[in-house]
Amino acid sequence: MKIGVLALQGAFIEHIKMLKQVGAETVEVRLPEQLEGLDGLIIPGGESTTIGKLATDYNLIEPLREFSQHKPTWGTCAGMIFLAKQLTTEEQPILGSMDIQVNRNAFGRQIDSFETNIHIDGFSDEPFHAVFIRAPVVTRVDDNVQVLAQLDDGQVVAVQQDHLLATAFHPELTDDLRLHSHFCAMIEKTTTS
Ligand code: GLN
Repeated sequence: MKIGVLALQGAFIEHIKMLKQVGAETVEVRLPEQLEGLDGLIIPGGESTTIGKLATDYNLIEPLREFSQHKPTWGTCAGMIFLAKQLTTEEQPILGSMDIQVNRNAFGRQIDSFETNIHIDGFSDEPFHAVFIRAPVVTRVDDNVQVLAQLDDGQVVAVQQDHLLATAFHPELTDDLRLHSHFCAMIEKTTTS
């Protein structure tokens, strides 16, 4: 299984390390042609305005949009913002692939970053330690989107829509491999169906 990680900015190295641990072959994606032959793609956390600007400069917006229409794609944090159909904040380049509305910096500034344990639907009872860094939340989902995790106050922080996955936190900054394994299982499902 060959999984690309968008490597324009942000925490792509950490995702690559996690993917290697779950046995995937990895590719750093900076050019449209590097999407060829990939079974899936991770869009990492970082700064979504920067990722959007660089993706525009490198002519990656359309190829990424096209890829995410058919192939498993997972956005974490800024990657979740980049995948969303709609933002509550002012305009910036996004892919618009996933039927969710997202509020950037929903918990405030860098200083308001936090870590907490959450439960992810379909996972074992073992809590998932989630690291939120200037994190977004999902403020609206269409009917075709499944909510996988919420904070105690009900704020939605992980969602899945068929072959698309989005998490507001940074699983690549912990040593819990369950979400990376889940993404590989999503890929297996699409390649065998
Ligand atoms: N606040 C960042 C943004 O708006 C996301 C932060 C992150 O990816 N950790 O893009």
